[in-house]
Amino acid sequence: MTPGPPPAAGGADAHWLLRTVELSRSCPPSATAFSVGCVVVAGDGTVLGEGYSRRDDPRDHAEEAALRGTDPGDPRLRGATLYSSLEPCSSRASRPTACSALILTTPIPRVVFAWREPALFVDCDGAERLRAAGRTVVERPDLAQGVREVNAHLLG
Ligand SMILES: [Zn+2]
Repeated sequence: MTPGPPPAAGGADAHWLLRTVELSRSCPPSATAFSVGCVVVAGDGTVLGEGYSRRDDPRDHAEEAALRGTDPGDPRLRGATLYSSLEPCSSRASRPTACSALILTTPIPRVVFAWREPALFVDCDGAERLRAAGRTVVERPDLAQGVREVNAHLLG
């Protein structure tokens, strides 16, 4: 996992979101679920975890796969940013814990995503839940085009 720029608003956030889109291209295809990429980056630009949808299990969401690779006791999580190509989910059919709730079990203070989940499957308020819990949430709709392309088959 290649290190990169320290997470920050602007070009560094764009760099890491483009990495999530790249990761999402590895997702096993699905007609009923989004293809998403996720990367957790420490304050110094070290990659702590990476993942994409359905990587280890057909029910995997990208955030779960990425967080699975991190050590929950790693102090660097306190200064990390979680990047996801899609807004972290707030409810799901496949597993009891939504990704926004999973993120709230970590000390990761900042979440950046590109594409707000369209209400195709469930109505998502992951960003609102994270903000309400005091996390910084940054939305970069200017980078959503690549995410829409990866998921074009779902959009009809
Ligand atoms: Zn999820």
